[in-house]
Amino acid sequence: MSSDQRRPGEILADQRRALARYLSCEVAPLSRHYGPVLERTGLRGGLASLDELARIPLTEPAELTDQDAVVLRPRDGNGAVGSLELRGRILWARLTRGPAHADREIIEPLYKPVQWIEHGGYLLGYTAEDLERLADLGRRWLQLAGLRRADRLLNVLAPAAGLPHWQLVLGCRRAGVAATHLGAPPDEAALARLSPTVLAGTPGDVERTLEVAARSGRRLAHLRTVLVAGAPPPADADRAHLAGLAGVDGDLAVVAAWAPPGARAVWAECRTGDALHTWPDSEVVEVVDPGSGRPVAEGQPGELVWTALGWRGTVLLRLRTGERGALVRSVPCATCGRGTPRVRRSTGVAGA
Ligand SMILES: [Zn+2]
Repeated sequence: MSSDQRRPGEILADQRRALARYLSCEVAPLSRHYGPVLERTGLRGGLASLDELARIPLTEPAELTDQDAVVLRPRDGNGAVGSLELRGRILWARLTRGPAHADREIIEPLYKPVQWIEHGGYLLGYTAEDLERLADLGRRWLQLAGLRRADRLLNVLAPAAGLPHWQLVLGCRRAGVAATHLGAPPDEAALARLSPTVLAGTPGDVERTLEVAARSGRRLAHLRTVLVAGAPPPADADRAHLAGLAGVDGDLAVVAAWAPPGARAVWAECRTGDALHTWPDSEVVEVVDPGSGRPVAEGQPGELVWTALGWRGTVLLRLRTGERGALVRSVPCATCGRGTPRVRRSTGVAGA
């Protein structure tokens, strides 16, 4: 079932159940950093409501000095990892095919990071399964932006942009959208040949690409969507500037994607929406008062705090992101009707 069709209340109930299972079956036994933390909070046995997450102390970026300590590592020897079903599979494989087979065929695909992706100063480990998840969140990003399978996407976001680049690459493939990943603004001839319907890049890269088109006298006549990523969502005036540069008539939307440093996938605006849809099956987002660290009421601005849900590889809980925003999660989106929680980023000073 597409999680987008659930009502906000159903999403929050699913999120609580998934988080309880995740903390007790994955993070507590497999994270060197968070195992003892969860032990002290008494949350190893699960949590009765999402509010109980606040019993876990906030993670300050400065305390993450040992990258390996926040990567989930299956304990060797005893097979005591994951759910009951997984432990059963591992035990059976060890008995029938030997420990090496169980490690290689079951534990490694689930727990070995196979790609490290940079996001805002964090180098995050992704397992093979995590990359499948990132691909699906990339697909949903494109779906929220209103892309169609017939679209032709030109990605000028550099691979050095890290997370948004990879989420877009994987998402295009998953969504079946034809894409050219150039990693930099093209010259006039290449741009005319590609004639994209979707242009993706940082606001600066998009601006340079549209200027190339304008200089050549050949506007991108088929362009209908601009995806901006790799930077915080631009202000309305900057979006209007990009749309003006594109100079195409009719339905051109500038749609942003962004998430605070440390998050495992970027969030995505829906087309013509004014907030970023988060991924409640993959994370828990909170907003806290930056001074006291206590959660604020829904819709109130504060510091964004990010918690992984279901990811393996690098797992961070209640990470202080240093970014400001407000979260709405109890009512559906007024633009697209989806029930997923949304964040509106703000640039004000602490608590403003
Ligand atoms: Zn929406």
